[in-house]
Amino acid sequence: MRRFLQDFTKNELEDLIKPKFRAKQIFSWLYNKYVTSYDDMRNIPKVLKEELSKKYSIEPLRILNVEESIDGSKKYLFELDDGNSVESVLLLMKEEEFHDDGTLKHHARYTVCISSQVGCKIGCSFCLTAKSGFIRNLSAGEIVEQVRLIKRDNGIASNRRLNIVYMGMGEPLDNLDEVAKSSIIFSDPDGMAISPNRQTISTSGLSSKIKKLGEKRLGVNLAISLHAVDDKLREELMPINRAYNIKSIIDAIREFPINTRKKVMFEYLVIKGVNDDLKSAKKLVSLLNGIRSKVNLIYFNPYQGSIYQRPEEKNMLNFQKYLISKGVLCTIRESKGLDISAACGQLRDKQKNS
Ligand code: SF4
Repeated sequence: MRRFLQDFTKNELEDLIKPKFRAKQIFSWLYNKYVTSYDDMRNIPKVLKEELSKKYSIEPLRILNVEESIDGSKKYLFELDDGNSVESVLLLMKEEEFHDDGTLKHHARYTVCISSQVGCKIGCSFCLTAKSGFIRNLSAGEIVEQVRLIKRDNGIASNRRLNIVYMGMGEPLDNLDEVAKSSIIFSDPDGMAISPNRQTISTSGLSSKIKKLGEKRLGVNLAISLHAVDDKLREELMPINRAYNIKSIIDAIREFPINTRKKVMFEYLVIKGVNDDLKSAKKLVSLLNGIRSKVNLIYFNPYQGSIYQRPEEKNMLNFQKYLISKGVLCTIRESKGLDISAACGQLRDKQKNS
C-alpha cells in the first residue's frame, strides 16, 4: 500500500528530512494552509519536494460525495487510494453569532466525526457498517486527512477550535496504533493544534485495549458505547459483549487515566421498547457508581430495513430526569442530520447500491 506524507508525526518527519526545521514547515503547509500538491509548498526546496513526492503521496483521500442537512451537518464520503471508501461527518454544533452592532459574538462551533477503519469487525446489530464486514484499518494519514479535507472544503481557518470524535466507521481501539498516531498529529502545535481535550475516542468496549490506550497517556477523552445495562441485552445488540462483558469494561474504565476535570462519556443508544424504561435507568445509575461519568442518550436513528425504532421523546426525558435526580450528568444528543444518511455506514451503503 502507498504511504502518505500525512502518515508521519512531526518527530518522524524530523528524522526523515534534513534539516529538521523543514518538518515544521511541511506541517504548516499541510495542516494550516491545506495544500493538496507539493508544488504549493513554496518555501520547500524543489529537490526535497521531488524526493518526497516519489515516495509519499499527499492525497490519501478524494471527496466522492457530500450530503448537506438542513441543520448544517455535512456528511462526506471519501474514496481511498485503493478504491475503498469511508465516511466522516461535519457537525455544526453552534452557528456563528453576531452582536447587534454587527461585530462577531462567537465563531461557528464544529465537531468532526471520523472513521478509523474500512468496515468493522464488531458486528453491532443496529449498525449498517457492520453489515458489510471488515475490510482494513486506516493509516494515521488516512484518518488525519478526513479532518484536513473537511476543514479545507468548508474554509474553516486553521486556528478555529474544533472537536474530533472517533465515532465514524470502525472500532478505533481495534486500530489502536494508527489511531494513537493520528491523535498525536492532530495535537501538534505546528499543525492543527487540536488539544487532546478536544478529541474523544469512542469504543464498543474492548476492555484490554482500553487499558493499552490508557498506557499511551495521550490525554484524550474516552467514550463507551454501552447501550445496555445487562449482558443479555448487550450481547444481543453488540455481540462483542460475549468477549468483553459489562463488568470487564467498567473495571477497565476505573483504571483509565482521566483528566481530573473530565468525565468518561457513556453513550446510550435509546431504542423504543428495548432499553428506554426506568428499570434500565436505575441499573445504569448503580453501574456507574463511583465513576466520574456523563451519559449521552442518543435517539436511535432508524434506517431502511432496521428492526429497531426511534424512542418517544417522553421516555427519553423521563430517563434523563431520573439520571439527573441521582446526580448523573445526562444529556440528550440532538439527532443531527436526520434528513441525510446520518447513521453510521448509510452514505457508503447508498453509494455502493447506486
Ligand atoms: S457501531 Fe461502531 S463498533 Fe459497532 S459495528 Fe458499527 S462501526 Fe463497528
